[in-house]
Amino acid sequence: MLGICQKCGNTQWDKEVQGNKIICPKCGNCWTFKKLPVFILTGCSGIGKTTTAQELQRMTDQYVVLDMDFLYNIMNHPQSVDDNYNMIEQALSLSKNINQTGKSVVWTCAGNLEKFPRVYSARFFSDIKVLALTASSEVIRKRMMEGRNIEDESWIQGSIDYNEYLRTHNSIEDTKYDKMDCSAETPKEIAEKVLEWLERNR
Ligand SMILES: [Zn+2]
Repeated sequence: MLGICQKCGNTQWDKEVQGNKIICPKCGNCWTFKKLPVFILTGCSGIGKTTTAQELQRMTDQYVVLDMDFLYNIMNHPQSVDDNYNMIEQALSLSKNINQTGKSVVWTCAGNLEKFPRVYSARFFSDIKVLALTASSEVIRKRMMEGRNIEDESWIQGSIDYNEYLRTHNSIEDTKYDKMDCSAETPKEIAEKVLEWLERNR
């Protein structure tokens, strides 16, 4: 909706964006929008993104917390690289419209982090801030096996490997991220720390 020209009705999606202004290439009409940061809460499978996100949304109504799985399911489980780019494009397109209420969106999203700054809609945000939740390998294994009854060893190992990458790096390609170890905290304590991080970066 934000991208539709009110003067000529141009629905072409890739309009020019300068700062917080959108310019219609058809008629030259120009309008402003609220430019806020978008937040991504990441981490390996089993780390507790969803639980943390649920706790977080209970704590605050200043952010709209959404799960990338909802788009993943709507888009019928995208597999190809192009389809994954399209999913991130849709996520940011939805986020920029939500931003016009004055609230930022917090996405839970395990992968595709490198794609966020590369899609067209990235230009509608003042920043893309990513927080990786991490824990020790033992904690990941325990949370997956005992918390979620996962027995698939390759899934568990894949998750541990991704967690290890997140712990030992600061970026995935061009996407930088902050890290938060949450091996010892309860979901509520983790959500409180995430909220502090959001407040520092909004
Ligand atoms: Zn126009």
